[in-house]
Amino acid sequence: MTVTKRSAMYETKAWGVEAQPDFINMCVEIDTQLTPLQLLEALQAIEQQTGRQKSYKWGPRKIDLDILFYGGLVIDEERLKIPHPYAHLRRFVLEPLAEIAPEFVHPTLGNTILWLLNRL
Ligand code: AMP
Repeated sequence: MTVTKRSAMYETKAWGVEAQPDFINMCVEIDTQLTPLQLLEALQAIEQQTGRQKSYKWGPRKIDLDILFYGGLVIDEERLKIPHPYAHLRRFVLEPLAEIAPEFVHPTLGNTILWLLNRL
C-alpha cells in the first residue's frame, strides 16, 4: 500500500473509558491492490508487529488501525464492517479525516465528511 495523504496527529481525550492517557489519532489515505479483507489482515499484522497487547475494551493500546472507508464499498460482515460503524459519530475520526477528505461522501449516509463533522 502507498500512503497518498496523511493528516496531522491529534491528541485527544480518551473516549469510552476516560481514566487513561490521551490518545493520538490520525487518518491516512492509501492506494492499494489489496482486497478489503487482505487489507484488514495487513493492518492486523502491523498491529501485532508493533506489539499491541490485549487490553480491555476501549482501553489503552500502543496502536489501533481501522479501515474507515474503502472507496464507496459497503461491507457488513462479522469480521469487517465498512464504512466503520462509528466513524461518523466520533470527532477524533472526523477531525483528522476532514483534513484529508472533506468532500468525501459517506457511502451509506450520503453526507460529506465536513458536513458530518459540523453536525456533531
Ligand atoms: P479493534 O480491537 O478496534 O482493533 O477491533 C477488532 C475487530 O474489529 C477486528 O477483529 C476486526 O475483525 C473488526 N473490524 C470490523 N470492522 C473493522 C474495520 N472497518 N476496521 C478494522 N477492524 C474491523
